[in-house]
Amino acid sequence: MSKAKIATCWLDGCSGCHMSLLDLDETLIQVARKADIVFGPLVDAQEFPEGVDVALVEGAVSSYDDQRLLQTIRRRSQVLVALGDCAVTGNVSSMRNGIPVKKLLERIYVQGAAEAQAVPSDGVPGLLKQAGPLHETVKVDLHIPGCPPKPDAIGFAVLELLEGRKPDMASKVKFG
Ligand code: SF4
Repeated sequence: MSKAKIATCWLDGCSGCHMSLLDLDETLIQVARKADIVFGPLVDAQEFPEGVDVALVEGAVSSYDDQRLLQTIRRRSQVLVALGDCAVTGNVSSMRNGIPVKKLLERIYVQGAAEAQAVPSDGVPGLLKQAGPLHETVKVDLHIPGCPPKPDAIGFAVLELLEGRKPDMASKVKFG
């Protein structure tokens, strides 16, 4: 029997949700028996593949690059999971939303820089006016809140999804 395909992705987040994913410990072995990880910071693939069964996405949508990647993930994935509070609500990533983008970039790259004081125009993803949760850009099938979510909540959700069931997260998660 062929294994399912899992992808993980890191948009505007701190990687803490991926650290929590790694903390699954022995549950990782159960997951590995049922699925291969085909994309994400933990593997070397450069392009998000077709035919993903479960995509776990950390972080808010903050840039045009985030937006494009998330739309690709949605098109190519059966189940899309918002992993952690930044993906679920915007959380820490959306704290910049009260500041206009131009002012924010000038504060960082001009006033805050000791040298080469200029807002870069090359190689830096263009920021959206507001950072927001995944569901404002695409349909999300499951939310796993937490900052970061607890490993047992992630493990429960992934194993249930791999069995073809929609996980009942009520007893596993809380916001904040
Ligand atoms: S939810 Fe918390 S741990 Fe996860 S990316 Fe956001 S700030 Fe980091």
